[in-house]
Amino acid sequence: MAINDVFSPVFVPSPLDPEDWEAFRAEAHRLLDACVDQLSAARDRPWRPLSEADKSTLRLGEAGTGIGSAALVDELAQHVLPFHTGNTHPRFFGWVHGTGLASGLLSEMVAATMNSNCGGRDHGAVYVEREVIEWCRRTFGLPETASGLLVAGTSQATVIALAAARLKALGPESRHAGIHDAPPLAAYAVKGVHNATVKALELLGLGSSALRTIPAGPDGGIDLVRLAEAVAKDRAAGVRPFCVIATAGSVDLGYFDDIELVADLCAQEDLWLHVDGAFGAWARLAESPWRELTRGIERADSIGFDFHKWMYVQYDCGVVLIRDQSVHRQAFAARPAYLAKQSEGIGGGEPWYCDYGTDLSRGFRALKVWSALRGYGREALGQAITRNCKLAARMAKCVETVGFRLAAPVRLNVCCFSAAPADWDGAEQDTLNERITHRLQLAGEVVFSTTRIDGRTVIRAAIVNHRTCEADIDYAIAAVERAKGLEAQAPIPASA
Ligand SMILES: *Cc1c(COP(=O)(O)O)cnc(C)c1O
Repeated sequence: MAINDVFSPVFVPSPLDPEDWEAFRAEAHRLLDACVDQLSAARDRPWRPLSEADKSTLRLGEAGTGIGSAALVDELAQHVLPFHTGNTHPRFFGWVHGTGLASGLLSEMVAATMNSNCGGRDHGAVYVEREVIEWCRRTFGLPETASGLLVAGTSQATVIALAAARLKALGPESRHAGIHDAPPLAAYAVKGVHNATVKALELLGLGSSALRTIPAGPDGGIDLVRLAEAVAKDRAAGVRPFCVIATAGSVDLGYFDDIELVADLCAQEDLWLHVDGAFGAWARLAESPWRELTRGIERADSIGFDFHKWMYVQYDCGVVLIRDQSVHRQAFAARPAYLAKQSEGIGGGEPWYCDYGTDLSRGFRALKVWSALRGYGREALGQAITRNCKLAARMAKCVETVGFRLAAPVRLNVCCFSAAPADWDGAEQDTLNERITHRLQLAGEVVFSTTRIDGRTVIRAAIVNHRTCEADIDYAIAAVERAKGLEAQAPIPASA
């Protein structure tokens, strides 16, 4: 019997594809228009809270029968699109939330269409990621033998970097043996290091107790004398120091460790130098004097940083770079039979990114980065970063002009201040700063967040926003003054 006798030559379309592609095209265009409308009107569309009715429109229930793509487009445009975090707005300064780029709208469309799996193999998306990693490597001055991986963010980058550092300390056999019989390891970082480091140590089985937090010196960076003392003390006690996590842009204030001097100590003591540069590493693209803050970063054994914070690229995208590719591979590479490399075809090509991290299946994060670099170029992105630093300095000036108090000098793009008089009771100062922050968020005027500096709650602005202009800074501080006045008349309820 010939195969054609049993083979039905009718190729039927997928029931999950649109029945009518032309109708789908029209719906897709309508949605794209809604997206462009929203983005082009970003200044008029701050965050707004979801009412109970808004939340109810999102309910899936059993999701038994689908509504089809025309109705889906309506729901996406009406019930999802308007309820963004608000970080697209020019006066969003809370936490460290990147703005996003118009180029991301284009690249996400293409990435969704391609639906590439970037775990490995030989196809275009992998070449795009290689270009992005290679650009990062050159930008941060690591040698050609370095490797890298795009990840969800700096939190994941830290896990991967510290896993490589752990492997370097304990040897490749530790992948099999685990850490049960290993000597206790210790890592070091400045007090106030981002919690991503703590979480990574927890996940790697070393425990947060393996982290020694070292006080900052007068310049806000890690105190090198205290660091050296802590390392010596651990060695004397039979603990194995293995890694220093240098901070390039602290989360609270944007302060830097002196990476050059930390690198000297790491070289002397044979310690892995990891740099947490989540947003601050991008000062590398800024003008002087900000650029010089990153001096020494090229000596790191590993660096973690984000494209989604201060490079304005859409969520989510972070990077880990590792100086010694062989250690990186030793920590993660594994090719069971079902992933064997082919000599030709799709299953060929090297490297495969699954050999450099925890994820096997991986999306095409690289395209939004590649598109940003290709579309705007390093110079324009660097200028936006410089402008953010200047705006933070302007905010500091405004703060002092209106008689508020800076919580610490502004060195990069972060400005922390208190709107409360210094002679108030401490708890009352905290409450006022919190309430002003909440009030301005709810009013859709300005988004600050808060943090604790020297034991007091302060208002914090981290400016990683390419839409912010000088008038926004002046408006923001005037809005704090107004909110403070309103707060004196009629405090909003504490629950808000
Ligand atoms: C945001 C941040 C992190 C964590 O990065 P994610 O991308 O949010 O995972 C780590 N370190 C610092 C200094 C940060 O600001």
